[in-house]
Amino acid sequence: MDLQLVAHTALDLICRSAQTLWTIAIGALVSLSYFLAGALVVATAGAALNFALAAVDIISPAALSAEDAARLSVGVWLLLTLAAFIPSAQDAVFRLRTGIRAPTAAENAAFEPAWAALCTRVGVDARTYLLRVSDKPGIAWACGQRVVVVSAQTLDFRPALLDAILAHELGHHRSAHALQMLLNVYFAYPMRTLISGLRVLLRSLRPTRYIVLIGLLFAPIRLAIWLLVTALGAALAIVDLLSLAYARRCEFVADRYAATHADPTVLADYLESLTSSSGRTIFDYIATTHPSGPRRARAIRRVSCRQRRIARARSQSSAALA
Ligand SMILES: [Zn+2]
Repeated sequence: MDLQLVAHTALDLICRSAQTLWTIAIGALVSLSYFLAGALVVATAGAALNFALAAVDIISPAALSAEDAARLSVGVWLLLTLAAFIPSAQDAVFRLRTGIRAPTAAENAAFEPAWAALCTRVGVDARTYLLRVSDKPGIAWACGQRVVVVSAQTLDFRPALLDAILAHELGHHRSAHALQMLLNVYFAYPMRTLISGLRVLLRSLRPTRYIVLIGLLFAPIRLAIWLLVTALGAALAIVDLLSLAYARRCEFVADRYAATHADPTVLADYLESLTSSSGRTIFDYIATTHPSGPRRARAIRRVSCRQRRIARARSQSSAALA
């Protein structure tokens, strides 16, 4: 009996550890790539700004070397990252960007008790999270470090399903998925801005009917910019694809958390009922942040099956000891 318990527990531990480590490895690679790309752009911009200010005599040419200016720029950029850890700052940004809002009294009557019950069961402080509602289509999502959003219609779901969905979002926060994705957006921003700026420059240097000669003179510059934009765009696209793979891994981790702390059958049945394009072809799959509902449901049922086997082996083992 004990052997059975040890075998089931070991298998569950191996599966859980492999999933967690694989997710962390992909996440670290994505964040590091976005960070290096962002730091490179910020450092170059800082050194260029320093050079320009010295050239027009706003600062002394000897005041700061190009290396110091690059280091200082990256330092300030990193310091600003701290804003991502301020819950009120996160809330303000998400409200502005996505239109989320505080729940009404009627919405809170369903939302707050469900969230409080889940947090009590799991053993976390419910008050440290900000509950928000979205009027846009969607089910629920976790934002930044502490923001939990559900769409208005999700609050009408039956209590067991709402509980499972909230458990999934809590799983994202407990594994810091949403915070890491927020930081990735911030780290990637300088490179995305540079590529967009270079594309605008490329369009403005295009020869027209009236200034064809000037346009032709710019041809080598246009070619150099085009090559740079293409290389940077391709490199960023590869990291973006990895980032989507990371997002899909995060869904499985959060589903596992929900399967452990809420009713796995309710969540699996619901996911199975969802129609999604992400499972049709490999191209659909790699271009989405979420694996298809049936695929996630199968993973949840596997986790739940292993957990049931462990519970059964545990009860048989304690019955044998009694
Ligand atoms: Zn999710």
